[in-house]
Amino acid sequence: MKRHSLCTVLSVRFLLLVLAVVLGISVVSNLLISRQFEAYVGEQQKTRADELAQNLSDQYDAARGGWNIDYVHGLGMAVLEDGFILRLRDREGKVLWDAENHDMMLCHRVMENIARDMREKRPELEGRFLTHHYDLKHAGIPAGSLDISYYSPYYIDRNDFRFMSALNRILIAVGGVSLAAAMIMGWLLAARIVRPLSETVESTRRIAGGDYTARLRSDIAEKEVYELTRAINRMADSLREQEELRKRLTSDVAHELRTPVAGLSSCVEMMIDGVLEPTPERLRGCQEELRRLSGLISDLERLREAEGGELTLRKRRVELRALAETVLRSFESQLAEKGLTGRVSGGPAEVFADPGRLRQVVTNLISNAVKYSREGGNIRVVIAETEKSCVLRVEDDGIGIPREDLSRIFERFYRTDVSRNRKTGGAGIGLAIVRSIVRAHGGSVTAESGEGGGSVFSVTLPRGEQVPSGKD
Ligand code: ADP
Repeated sequence: MKRHSLCTVLSVRFLLLVLAVVLGISVVSNLLISRQFEAYVGEQQKTRADELAQNLSDQYDAARGGWNIDYVHGLGMAVLEDGFILRLRDREGKVLWDAENHDMMLCHRVMENIARDMREKRPELEGRFLTHHYDLKHAGIPAGSLDISYYSPYYIDRNDFRFMSALNRILIAVGGVSLAAAMIMGWLLAARIVRPLSETVESTRRIAGGDYTARLRSDIAEKEVYELTRAINRMADSLREQEELRKRLTSDVAHELRTPVAGLSSCVEMMIDGVLEPTPERLRGCQEELRRLSGLISDLERLREAEGGELTLRKRRVELRALAETVLRSFESQLAEKGLTGRVSGGPAEVFADPGRLRQVVTNLISNAVKYSREGGNIRVVIAETEKSCVLRVEDDGIGIPREDLSRIFERFYRTDVSRNRKTGGAGIGLAIVRSIVRAHGGSVTAESGEGGGSVFSVTLPRGEQVPSGKD
């Protein structure tokens, strides 16, 4: 399919539109003006004939009871060229002066010329010479009668035609100038619309080529184009973040694996070289490292499953309080190790969910609370219900989460600097798994943290049967 530039398409359409408008206006105004003008000319002819009759009446000599034939002759000959053919009769009806009798040749020539002219110029008119009769009176006394023949319904002479064609030329010139102006304006307008779009295409190409720093101008007046550039800028932001995350993912996985593998391999090497005794204690240490490694691998697998949309949920009714208590009990020894107290309050509350996955969510949240709590801290699991949803909150008074990290801790492998420094051992996957599972249940999870430490994680799940069975 042949594609034309938007600028050309817009300009041509604009031009066509103006062309149609200018043509329409020209045709209609030409028609109206012509009609008006013809009516005016017809009216003028009639007025002129009336004036002629009036003029002749004034020439009647009442004292002599006769007409000044010389004057009538002069007048009759003068108006003959204008298409008025006079015939004067006295009171008894006797013809006193008749243009046709007087100079038949000239008279017929004038009539033929006029008729031919009009047939050529207005063939649709079907005009002809009509005779109009006037009874002449002088000072109220009948003085005779006058027949005036002229071309009806109207006769447009050469001057009138010249005027009409001048008017038409002006209309055509105005139309031409409007078209030229429309062409220039259309082009400028189209260029104004198209310029930011072209820039957008250029930047989008750069972004698609991997240059995620490319950004579009935001000082754009047109709302839709502005929205488009904003959407593309946001897309570039998220692509850049994804790219960073991908890079970090690779380096984090490498880092997470390298430390235990290096420890293990040096330990085993030393045992083989006889530098270290393979005591049951040392072997248990190695086993612990191996367990951590396999834990990390299964975490990665779970994350891929949860994020890849492969999560199949086997849903049934789950009572949140009982679930929270069971999970908290499984942390008993870790709580005791750090001197922490754990308590579940609120509930019972039922949700329709996959119990195994939900258990994973609560386990990850409590495990974090334990990891990031200071010695002797408190952990509370609070269960609350609203009309449409159930909320499970895991609260601790531990090290807290910096405000700037709150929105990012659910990303995979994201860890705050505080937790890195403390070498708590997590890989930054737990919360990503939590978010994926909760979303797959049609719920949401948020994190809050106070200034002086302490964190609250709230999981909101739809209640009972209303839970949609869809995935994230
Ligand atoms: P990790 O295995 O590192 O704990 P998570 O995905 O579970 O990974 O958590 C991501 C990061 O969020 C943690 O590294 C930590 O910085 C922060 N975090 C999570 N839970 C808490 C909490 N209860 N208190 C303080 N920081 C937390």
